[in-house]
Amino acid sequence: MAKLSMKERYAALTRDLDWDFDYVDSKEVFPYTTFEGIKIHDWSKWEDPFRLTVDSYFKYQAEKDRRLYAVLDSFAQSQGHLSLHEARYLNAMKLFLQGVTPLEYAAHRHFAFLARFLDSGGPRFAALCQSIDELRHAQTEIHTLSNYNKYYSGFHSWPKMHDRVWYLSVPKSFFDDAISSGPFEFLTAISFSFEYLLTNLLFVPFMSGASFNGDLPTMTFGFSAQSDESRHMTLGLESIRFLLEQDPDNVPIVQGWIDKWFWRSYRVTALVAGMMDYMLPRKVMSWKEAFELYFEEQMMGSLFKDLAYYGIRPPAHVGDAIAEKEHLSHQVYWTLYSFSFAAAFTTTVPDPAELEWLSQTYPESFDKLYRPRWERAAEITEGGGRFFFQGLPQLCQVCQIPMLFTEPGDPTTICQRHSNFNGENFDFCSDGCKSIFDKEPEKYIQAWLPVHQIFQGNCGGPSVPEVLDWYGIQEGDNAEYLGSKDNLNWLSWHDDSAK
Ligand code: FE
Ligand code: ZN
Repeated sequence: MAKLSMKERYAALTRDLDWDFDYVDSKEVFPYTTFEGIKIHDWSKWEDPFRLTVDSYFKYQAEKDRRLYAVLDSFAQSQGHLSLHEARYLNAMKLFLQGVTPLEYAAHRHFAFLARFLDSGGPRFAALCQSIDELRHAQTEIHTLSNYNKYYSGFHSWPKMHDRVWYLSVPKSFFDDAISSGPFEFLTAISFSFEYLLTNLLFVPFMSGASFNGDLPTMTFGFSAQSDESRHMTLGLESIRFLLEQDPDNVPIVQGWIDKWFWRSYRVTALVAGMMDYMLPRKVMSWKEAFELYFEEQMMGSLFKDLAYYGIRPPAHVGDAIAEKEHLSHQVYWTLYSFSFAAAFTTTVPDPAELEWLSQTYPESFDKLYRPRWERAAEITEGGGRFFFQGLPQLCQVCQIPMLFTEPGDPTTICQRHSNFNGENFDFCSDGCKSIFDKEPEKYIQAWLPVHQIFQGNCGGPSVPEVLDWYGIQEGDNAEYLGSKDNLNWLSWHDDSAK
């Protein structure tokens, strides 16, 4: 017998269970891949870009895990947490554990679903690998950050918080929206828009933030996940190309999903913008610089030029996102600062060096619009007070972020949009969110909006302490950083005069 080529050998290794059905209709086996209107003529055109086998996959992943857990052990044993740049940095990691780690787990679950329900062996195996990757990400993130839970506030009840706390319903509702759509929309939402378009704006800032601020374990986890990410991004691009090449009727459907999921994903990164410019004591790069480099140059400049070949144009509302880059992080972090009495992290006024950095990085907006707010907040703090917003904000019905964004081109007017559906009024933060609602109002009227839920009496009770208790927020988790439990511990651990 002639020796098999690599490609044939791989096919023989991976396709034996991809049998044809003779006594069941394949529509019964794969019931979910037709209702979205996507037409697939030839599933075999789906290429596996990586040609992984189960054996090589597990060998490679196990090696990465061994390295990560060696770092975690030595960091824990040597009290590595004391060599962080500052305890305040960990607020970014609390946001990560509460907001992003549960998304990894949700991704694990839904890729496992796709590993069963996509029609063909290639995409099923790619979905299976990604499902296992995402489970590994969730586990390694939990293990990596669990060490800090021994010494710092805010790391304890993150799965409960993810389900209940107002700012975490932003990422949670995003993923719930994706999971409750069809399989091809999910792939466009998560594998393409979220992973491919926005990984550089979500994952990289947290991991470089870790490395700049002395968090060796998180940095090591980041490297260990990054090689998976490149596989995930390739899956995203491969699925989009496959859909577009299979039938011209798929193009407008995919375009609609790209429009929707760009805006949905972009709104989730608003939290990252605030984190990058304000929560990291040592800055990596500003939100604006990251957005220009990764989104405007790499995505708009090259990816969407390639996709134009298939008749795909850049996502709707891209212009609004670009117009917002001078303002986004300041508006978001001011809101987090004003409401952090109800958050599982602490906030504080940027120190003078940070204010200077913000002035230089945002010359067109910061001194004029945002510095005066911080100076006023600092005055209040120096006088022994602390500014917190009293009352509950109006939330956007789609992205669930408090309506804090301003009109494109007019940073002094809050942007508000409204739609009427079945006699009821719904509010939105932007044209992007309104147009998502208007296409599927039946879906978004069901949104679990944290503020509305509090008013309806579903969140522990009518008073702030009752709601915080229901959230799982404990003394020391929330409010102002200066004078907080973490801040005081940190000072005493680093106070040489006391020794
Ligand atoms: Fe992941
Ligand atoms: Zn919105």
